[in-house]
Amino acid sequence: MGPTARIDLSALGHNLQQARAFAPGSRVYAVIKANAYGHGMLRVAPFLAGADALAVARVDEAVQLRQAGIDRPLLVLEGFFDAAELDAAAHYRLEVAVMQSEQLEILRQRPLTRPVACWLKVDSGMHRLGFQPAAVAAAWQALRDNPMVAGGVGLMTHLASADDPDDPATPAQLSTFRQLCRQFEAPRSIANSAGIIGWPEARAEWIRPGIMLYGASSMLGQSGEQIGLRPVMTLQSRLIAVNHFPKGSPIGYGGSWVCPEDMPVGVVAAGYGDGYPRHAPSGTPLLLNGRRVPLIGRVSMDMLNVDLRSQPQARVGDPAILWGQGLPAEEIAARAGTIAYELFCGVTQRVRIEEINGQG
Ligand SMILES: *Cc1c(COP(=O)(O)O)cnc(C)c1O
Repeated sequence: MGPTARIDLSALGHNLQQARAFAPGSRVYAVIKANAYGHGMLRVAPFLAGADALAVARVDEAVQLRQAGIDRPLLVLEGFFDAAELDAAAHYRLEVAVMQSEQLEILRQRPLTRPVACWLKVDSGMHRLGFQPAAVAAAWQALRDNPMVAGGVGLMTHLASADDPDDPATPAQLSTFRQLCRQFEAPRSIANSAGIIGWPEARAEWIRPGIMLYGASSMLGQSGEQIGLRPVMTLQSRLIAVNHFPKGSPIGYGGSWVCPEDMPVGVVAAGYGDGYPRHAPSGTPLLLNGRRVPLIGRVSMDMLNVDLRSQPQARVGDPAILWGQGLPAEEIAARAGTIAYELFCGVTQRVRIEEINGQG
């Protein structure tokens, strides 16, 4: 007995429509990197058919999609790293981000079977990847002059702090990028989910939603549910033991939680070996029989304990939801000092997957 990740395939299309509703004039790259944030890249791709294109982080991921027969426009957000990856990009008709001079050099030297489509990535202030604003004109010209680069080069940037609607870093990035773009005739792409949800000016010709497609919001203090998104993944398991302990009994490893009175304590079959965060503190909610009960004590590899004082009638076999339907992953993540992205990506191999609502 262990947890199941139930994947609601119909929620993907719904969430994509919500992303489009935020940015009705924009075309959409549906971001399915990191195995679609743990949801299964090949599983979800067909259910995001309403997107104009797909995006992944790495060439390997894109090649896997092509080899599975997925023939849609496909952007590699981190671009190619060496000549072999560039060859693969040309061979598999991948669009690539170009963010540094090493890539321009490889592009200049490498004879390709066909031109590749490129997005020039600009560092407008995140200081991770991208050409500095002052270097963009030369990079742009190098791409335009290169016969191995397909026409219609785009300009792309990424926002560092869009999850916080009050952070002045975002207007600063938007202004830097907007001023730069005036010099070029090019489609632009700026917004990830937080940009789409929180920053109308970031919507531009192409948007790049990721986490919101899976039903979570990346805005601080706001759940996906609150903005009309539906959770795709529900991690669920069962109660495998119900015990009664006297006041003063320590619960679990280290005895970090002690029963304040005589009380029933349940054991749920889910732990960090399944991807439930070990740092979730006592008090983190689970849904047992559809109602909240608090986690108590330390999370083990295969199990965790819950306080059953509010459900003394609970029995072995009762269903427990760890996150998903009715219990936002964002909330569990915040309790554990992380983000929903990491919870989703961290679901482990041994967790069974159950697909629902796959028939249109
Ligand atoms: C991952 C990623 C996205 C999607 O981000 P979300 O926050 O999941 O919406 C968009 N653009 C780039 C460059 C990314 O790396």
